[in-house]
Amino acid sequence: MKEGNWKTETGKWSVAVWLPRLSFFRVSFLAAFCACLCASAVAFSLLLAQTSEETYRRLREEMVRTQIAELRFSGAPPVRDARVLDAMRRTPRHKFVPATQAAHAYEDRPLPIGHDQTISQPYMVAIMTELVRPQAGHRVLEIGTGSGYQAAVLSPLVAQVYTIEIVEPLGKQASERLRALGYNNVEVGIGDGYLGWPEKAPFDGIVVTAGATEIPMPLVEQLKPGGRMVIPVGPYWQTQILKVVTKGTRGPRDHRVEDVMPVAFVPLVRQKK
Ligand code: SAH
Repeated sequence: MKEGNWKTETGKWSVAVWLPRLSFFRVSFLAAFCACLCASAVAFSLLLAQTSEETYRRLREEMVRTQIAELRFSGAPPVRDARVLDAMRRTPRHKFVPATQAAHAYEDRPLPIGHDQTISQPYMVAIMTELVRPQAGHRVLEIGTGSGYQAAVLSPLVAQVYTIEIVEPLGKQASERLRALGYNNVEVGIGDGYLGWPEKAPFDGIVVTAGATEIPMPLVEQLKPGGRMVIPVGPYWQTQILKVVTKGTRGPRDHRVEDVMPVAFVPLVRQKK
């Protein structure tokens, strides 16, 4: 092997041969160049992430303005509660849908989340949240965790959210997602939400995000007097009527029912015994 030749005697390139031959200056230059390259790659990806978060934030603003806070084409009433509108503006729906659906996250419709289930349409989440009249000190129960989005919207509006999901993998995934996103006042339970969560009762509000064939009495019993339950009720796999059930003061089953509007939800299924 001759001086000035970076190949081995057999004529092959070898790091072991050429590295010691580089001057200190050349090595420093190479290292600085690599460091610059890495730093630009990191800065570029950060910028890209920031830009897409900013894009999503704008899409949320637009979603609230055009789909939620205005009278809808169908005649459905706009949502007026400023706290609810603010929660809708702040909750990153794109982080609650599969990556393949993220581009559609702020469209005016439900989206598939796997296991034949859906994340509800943003307007529906907003109106149900408004109807339950969340207050800062409230403890609210949700039936049908799904993606965890409705629970996340409720989270900043109340003291504690409990949510029950019957499909175990969905419940586990939602629980991990909520924890990762910092929703620390949400507890996810796995089971049949028809029966409520007696250990955590009574609740100031209950939001049922699956269509029931009748008003579940265990849920009525777990409401505080004056508490409200928002629930779609109708025949299996048909359009339901969104109802508000207000708990009375004359016993555990005393309640009054108001009809709000026709809606379409996946059915509330019962756990097989
Ligand atoms: N609130 C959800 C969407 C609800 S879709 C969200 O924000 O993403 C309805 C969910 O109710 C589904 O995930 C379904 O598995 C669940 N579900 C159906 N019957 C149930 C029951 N008896 N108890 C608990 N969850 C139920």
